[in-house]
Amino acid sequence: MKNQIRALPSDVVDQIAAGEVVERPAHLVKELVENALDAGARSIEVEYDQGGRRIRVTDDGHGIAIAELGLALARHATSKISASDDLWSLSTFGFRGEALASAASVSRFTLLSRPPGATAAARVVADFGKIGRAEECGGNVGTTALVEDLFANVPARLKFLKSESGETTQIKNVLKALALSRPDVEFRGRSRGKVDFFWPKASTAVERAGQILGLGALYESHGDAGTVRARAIFASPHEVSGQSRSIWIFAQGRWVQDRGLQAAVLDAFRGLLMHGEYPIAVVDVRTDVGEIDVNIHPTKSQVKFRDAQSAFRAVHRAVRGGLEKAPWLETLGAGEAPRVASVAAAVEAYSARPPAPAPAPSLAFAGPGFDDVRFKHSSFVPEPPPEAAPAAGAWSRLQLIGQLKLTYVVAQSDQAMVLVDQHAAHERVAFERLMRGWAGGRVDRQALLFPLSMALSSDGVEALNGAREDLERLGVTLEPSSPHSLAIRAKPAAISDAALLSALARLAQEITEKGGGFALERRIGDVCASLACHSVVRAGQALSREQMQSLLQQMDEFPLSSFCPHGRPVSVEVSFAKLDRDFGRIV
Ligand code: ADP
Ligand code: MG
Repeated sequence: MKNQIRALPSDVVDQIAAGEVVERPAHLVKELVENALDAGARSIEVEYDQGGRRIRVTDDGHGIAIAELGLALARHATSKISASDDLWSLSTFGFRGEALASAASVSRFTLLSRPPGATAAARVVADFGKIGRAEECGGNVGTTALVEDLFANVPARLKFLKSESGETTQIKNVLKALALSRPDVEFRGRSRGKVDFFWPKASTAVERAGQILGLGALYESHGDAGTVRARAIFASPHEVSGQSRSIWIFAQGRWVQDRGLQAAVLDAFRGLLMHGEYPIAVVDVRTDVGEIDVNIHPTKSQVKFRDAQSAFRAVHRAVRGGLEKAPWLETLGAGEAPRVASVAAAVEAYSARPPAPAPAPSLAFAGPGFDDVRFKHSSFVPEPPPEAAPAAGAWSRLQLIGQLKLTYVVAQSDQAMVLVDQHAAHERVAFERLMRGWAGGRVDRQALLFPLSMALSSDGVEALNGAREDLERLGVTLEPSSPHSLAIRAKPAAISDAALLSALARLAQEITEKGGGFALERRIGDVCASLACHSVVRAGQALSREQMQSLLQQMDEFPLSSFCPHGRPVSVEVSFAKLDRDFGRIV
């Protein structure tokens, strides 16, 4: 009877279910390490070979009693929750009781464990679903899970695995994520019998991020919205990645794939990165129990916030707030000053130096907004040493040398030569001025004696007419003069007619294509960028010393002055140490 309905044999059920939890080796690694963390491990060692078809996870956690060893491998058997209400107040990674059962049905799986009080360890072996009896054996306190021949009984799954190195990369990504979420635990990775990485216990999240991302200079900031609290750890926009994978997002300490929160990070970096560049950032989002559902996906890689907008805002605020302080400017012109792991550490290092008798003409730590950064992120609040309170900003304190190739302003600090791209710098300043004017409703408006007339489609006229209030705040006064044209009666003083007309035409087209509403603020950013780009000094233009000096001064007005609105760097510096090396003065 072909169409008869039957219940599936339990081994088939197990395999189907295992497919959901363990699609690839990296998923299994994640589950096993999460179990170790749930067991209170302080130190975890992970071995991976054959692209993860062999995995061993060893921990020093609280172990499993011999009587429960077999049960640990049963489906939906867990020690972590007992009622459905518990799903809303989880304090553990695990709760579904599926991982070990899945591992046991698609591999030769050995679970060996010894709780602290036990006289011996015990072991249970499952052979592709056939679970043996638990037996006493020798072993240390803690638990070891060993996976061998993963997916040997599921050829379809094997076929979909990537190359060995591809799967290994995924495994290491998972391990990085877990280690980022738990700086207090030591992680060691081994492959082919050799230590692959070692991340000792770290005292702060920034320190752990430094170990894993391999970057010295990382900064920390915070942001709240509603009941959501976000912490961001980020690298300066000078350090970028070619892949969005460099944005790590954690919700309640779980690594999640959340497009919304990723967009919040990208949006906060807008104008600081070039096309195809991604920021390096680790974002941790927390909210109250009951405000977030972590049980919406078998691999627990997705979550649902009750108030998704607040989550977005909190992340945006944390990242943007941190960026606006431009903490990397602390070391502007400081040549090859040693890189520091955090702002707090920088402050500490700085204040540990003996106060100089006369103010040293050093630019180090003189970046705009530095004072805020210091007190926000350091629990250690030092007395500022005398030279730490510079009046002028970092840019205008550079000593101006001249102009190069009619394109670059050349200046020096006491430790480095600094080249400033005159167009990019001026553009950044004009952009920030427009944006600030728009946000604060104050711009240098110039009323036009003869209104500019702009021809458009009727949709275009309607689109711009709908954006009138925002444009007004930008200093642009316009009104429809016919179904197919607009009259522009005022514009920002610094903006040329041609720049204005082309920016407005672009805006009209965008609104018509993508609709009005939410994203207007973002479009205003684009409008300002294009207004700025077309109205400022270009490369190839001779500048007087006064003009150059004034440009540097203007750059100090805005904290983000180190990138143009299109994300190109505004300045490049060459340390004197490097010059001396290049000239063979230092060996
Ligand atoms: P879950 O983690 O969702 O509870 P698992 O199948 O991953 O389900 O694990 C089943 C149970 O086995 C856990 O609830 C826990 O009691 C026990 N266990 C698994 N791994 C470990 C470990 N490394 N240390 C101690 N207990 C463990
Ligand atoms: Mg688990």
